[in-house]
Amino acid sequence: MTKPSSLRTHDLVGRARPRYHADKLTVHRDPTALRRVTRALRGGGRRINLVPTMGALHAGHRELMRRARGVPGATTVVSIFVNPRQFAPGEDLDRYPRAFEDDLEMCREEGVELVFAPEVEDVYPAGFATSIHPGPLGDDLEGAVRPGHFAGVLTIVAKLFAITVPDVAYFGEKDYQQLALIRRMVRDLDIDVHLVGVPTVRERDGLALSSRNVYLSPDEREAAVAISAALSAGQYAGEQGPAAVLDAARAVLAAEPRLELDYLELRDDELGPTPEIGPARLLVAARAGKTRLIDNVAVSLVRRVD
Ligand code: AMP
Repeated sequence: MTKPSSLRTHDLVGRARPRYHADKLTVHRDPTALRRVTRALRGGGRRINLVPTMGALHAGHRELMRRARGVPGATTVVSIFVNPRQFAPGEDLDRYPRAFEDDLEMCREEGVELVFAPEVEDVYPAGFATSIHPGPLGDDLEGAVRPGHFAGVLTIVAKLFAITVPDVAYFGEKDYQQLALIRRMVRDLDIDVHLVGVPTVRERDGLALSSRNVYLSPDEREAAVAISAALSAGQYAGEQGPAAVLDAARAVLAAEPRLELDYLELRDDELGPTPEIGPARLLVAARAGKTRLIDNVAVSLVRRVD
């Protein structure tokens, strides 16, 4: 099927309004209007790719968009929504970085055709009451420090799936636990979407890109390098077994007094208990001043054959 060059819907007084232009960016605030567009595109044989974000877009988000845009015959929807339900009281909701115009510019540069940028009341109208409970993994690791966070994440992601009905959705491995929980939800609730996990994009010195990195003072930014350095040290120790992995990573973190460690954990790749052998994930959360940073890497626990 060829790509429709534009789709029109009607506003309240019956005026036809373009809602989609091939090869141009259209921003939608209204979930119903966006749903109509993606439905029409699907009806015309297009596939829909979804990249959910909270905006303040950086090269990590750009990589997700590139993956999505690389699929022939697909239209990419980027959602930009700072979801209040995934912030616990006292977290940084009010000061979370916002850069909407720059975000749209990046979407244009990457050839994104649809941005979904709702207001809070569009997503959570008066009387909104339902939420998705993540199960035990939702209270572990990040969930232990951020109560309610993953219920907020899963609820918004389920809504984004329901609004856009994507064929494929792209998430960063940077938020590995989030990705694991979304995979679980998709399996458990029989949601018909293919999930793609995208490897973490890093600064040259190893720091994982994050919208929250702008909070870091120069001194904190310097200290933050120890997080990815610790993960690399752990990764290299993979063939000496799980205890060596944790020791190697812990030693690097202990040498950086400007970081406050929340957790350092070695889990299996679905975030179950530490395996003795096989694929594993090393995860860390640490605070540099008031800024909480998370990162993780794959670790291969292989026994060396001498
Ligand atoms: P956020 O805007 O922080 O909610 O992130 C939106 C999506 O981008 C999530 O799927 C993140 O995991 C992903 N993401 C954030 N930072 C990175 C990064 N450095 N590399 C790859 N993906 C990322």
